[in-house]
Amino acid sequence: MYRVEQLIGGVWGAGGAGGELVVHDPADGTPVSTVPVATADEVAKSVEAARGAAAEWAATAPAERAAALHRAAAALAAAADELAEATTAEMGKPLADARGGVEAGIGTLRQYAELGPVRGGRTLHGGTHAIDFMAPEPRGVVAAITPWNDPVAVSCGLLGAALVTGNVVLYKPSERTPATGWLLARILDGALPAGVLSLLTGGGEVGAALAAQQVDVVAHVGSTATGRAIAAACARTGAKALLENGGSDPLIVDAGLDPVWAAGQAAIGSFANAGQICVAVERIYVHRDVAEDFVDALVDRAEALRVGPGRDPGTELGPLVDRRHRDHVHGQVTAAVAEGATLRTGGVLPEGPGAFYPATVVTGCRHEMTLVREETFGPVAPVVVVDSFSEALRCAADSPYGLAGTVLTASMSHAQRAWRELPVGTVKVNAVFGGAPGGAAQPRRGSGQGFGYGPELLDEFSTVKTVHLEAPGGGHW
Ligand code: NAD
Repeated sequence: MYRVEQLIGGVWGAGGAGGELVVHDPADGTPVSTVPVATADEVAKSVEAARGAAAEWAATAPAERAAALHRAAAALAAAADELAEATTAEMGKPLADARGGVEAGIGTLRQYAELGPVRGGRTLHGGTHAIDFMAPEPRGVVAAITPWNDPVAVSCGLLGAALVTGNVVLYKPSERTPATGWLLARILDGALPAGVLSLLTGGGEVGAALAAQQVDVVAHVGSTATGRAIAAACARTGAKALLENGGSDPLIVDAGLDPVWAAGQAAIGSFANAGQICVAVERIYVHRDVAEDFVDALVDRAEALRVGPGRDPGTELGPLVDRRHRDHVHGQVTAAVAEGATLRTGGVLPEGPGAFYPATVVTGCRHEMTLVREETFGPVAPVVVVDSFSEALRCAADSPYGLAGTVLTASMSHAQRAWRELPVGTVKVNAVFGGAPGGAAQPRRGSGQGFGYGPELLDEFSTVKTVHLEAPGGGHW
């Protein structure tokens, strides 16, 4: 059992007068972690303490800040198994995936440690004896509010980029993976001067209290509804809101493709991490010519997945994060069936403990259904049959979200049309996942705002000071 502690003003074990939460293993319901809940007063005090540490950290040489991040990356590598086990125990994903998330986090910390010190600004020469330069500076106090679905990878991105650019950080991990966040915060704190990092724990109300404070940036990775609430809070305080939120990513399957290969891509996109990935395939538009064979192959893939607790080696489909989330997923599936869609496999709540949900393929879906339009975040593949590539593109583009989209096609002109016409941050052609390390994207519409990843995230956490220098009296220096 993990006993999570908060870190406020450089002191572990501080606060927690707001009560206690217990996290249960979604595979069998056993308790995993106990977590203190911060009060609004503790949140306010922690922001005040963090601001007190901001000037010194901002004045620390970039190379020294980078060295701290390298030390943290090494310590995280040494504790990788422990972090992966905590992730699996708290949110259920297969252990190998959890380990992959930790490896991604280590890579991100190292990448930011390398990039941080080599950043520069522009210089301009308006006259022979005048010079303008633009110097990056930290924004100051960053609140980093994170989700549970890939807790180490996502947190390392926000924390690594904010810290190496000289900001102090108040970290609020998800209430569903607090021990994972606590273990990560302990590792980072061990590599940093006291007070540079704070850890606040508890539910959405703690995140809301933090977002309401006078901080300089609120960086949130999570649901669209929360992102909207944070944007409203930032509008009141003047803080910058950096939002990486939900999606309903389309997959287009063009005519003329091998339907078995396409179904393999759809299965990875819909069922990996039990569909709990921001860029999971959430809706499939398949050309009528290949639809029947594609659906048959997708059903085969869904039924072949090995289901079990994430800690069991060989598990491909673990439980959902909890029963509350399972109710949300199942509610969307049953509503689609009530509106005329057909369950080809899955879609039935299993007996027994935990929050398991079967890999589900739903056919006969229409573009207007909630299952198709809204984020499901579960192992569900809703299939809409279309008569042309243009119809598929039109449906794919018609969404309240704008995170990413995938097109499977052998036609270069269709691939070109897709990347030009889809109003999303990332277009993937012929691979549902992948992308170069260090890749970044700008979500659109309900999916958020600003770069949440890559070298561009360093710019998001920095501001620029422009300096105009001239000699006195317009003369020479
Ligand atoms: P969530 O927004 O419910 O929770 C995320 C964090 O926000 C948690 O720490 C939570 O306590 C906090 N929070 C909740 N209500 C708040 C409020 N009113 N004010 C401030 N903070 C609040 O999201 P979740 O369920 O943890 O995560 C799943 C969502 O995250 C999905 O929608 C998924 O698509 C999205 N996600 C997006 C990305 C991306 O890069 N775009 C990556 C991973 C996950």
